[in-house]
Amino acid sequence: MSIVNEKEIMVDAAKGKYAIGAFNITNVNQLEGVVEAAVAKKSPLIIQTSVKPSKFLGADVLVAIYKTIASSAPIPICLHLDHCTDVEYCKKCADAGYTNIMIDASKQSFDENIRQTKEIVDYCHKVGNISVEGELGTVSGVEDQIKVSEDETQLANPTQAVEFVERTGLDIFAPAIGSAHGVYKTKNPKIDVERMATINQMLNGNGIKTPLVVHGGTGLPEDYIKKLLEAGGAKFNVSTELKRVLIDAKYEYITAHREEYDPGKVDVAARDAIRKAVGHWIDMLGSEGKA
Ligand SMILES: [Zn+2]
Repeated sequence: MSIVNEKEIMVDAAKGKYAIGAFNITNVNQLEGVVEAAVAKKSPLIIQTSVKPSKFLGADVLVAIYKTIASSAPIPICLHLDHCTDVEYCKKCADAGYTNIMIDASKQSFDENIRQTKEIVDYCHKVGNISVEGELGTVSGVEDQIKVSEDETQLANPTQAVEFVERTGLDIFAPAIGSAHGVYKTKNPKIDVERMATINQMLNGNGIKTPLVVHGGTGLPEDYIKKLLEAGGAKFNVSTELKRVLIDAKYEYITAHREEYDPGKVDVAARDAIRKAVGHWIDMLGSEGKA
């Protein structure tokens, strides 16, 4: 029950007009803080890693830790590989036991994006109960190894979105709607909520088939989050904020306890800060009590 793929929990979220946070982790310390927050709030949870930390820690190691924690947790937890541009690494993580894979071929041509995405969908569905997320259009900012400047950003075309989902058999769709990775440079980012709602209506108007993801959650104003929930956003990716929280918490602890050499206490400070930040996101996304 506790080890789930992403689609299972996102369909319920889309129906209930709440969203599940996909919280990025780079180490075990963060993972513990994220899980503690979700357990305390009785919220379903998506743990996500980008490709770099996944390779650094090792997909097998990450999956072993995930399975150990998730199998005894009282909430459903998914392990998601975010923005992987490498078809072979997507397959490796599916084999290792990730329960959701995002193949990001959004920088390729439309047809090549379809070809690569379909290859991963077919592979993951054959390997096991693994759902697949794909992206159309490009989200600006920096995500792991992928850099997209703001003027390069192309928003997802609704008609193409339907064709993309139909031809790939995709489980979860990430439309580019103007949200950005990293930190927003303006207080009023141009987020195309209407486009999100249109795509949601076209894909999910007759029952939820392909739930939608909002990338670039860090720094999104709360009123936008509410509008995007209403428009069909059933998962929000939060990465940059948690990296900042981790580093700031460790820096502050070490600065205040410069003579102390107890690594466990530094980790506890970081874990507590992560738990608090994730708890706040769960409140904003409305997933408390939905596990
Ligand atoms: Zn993203």
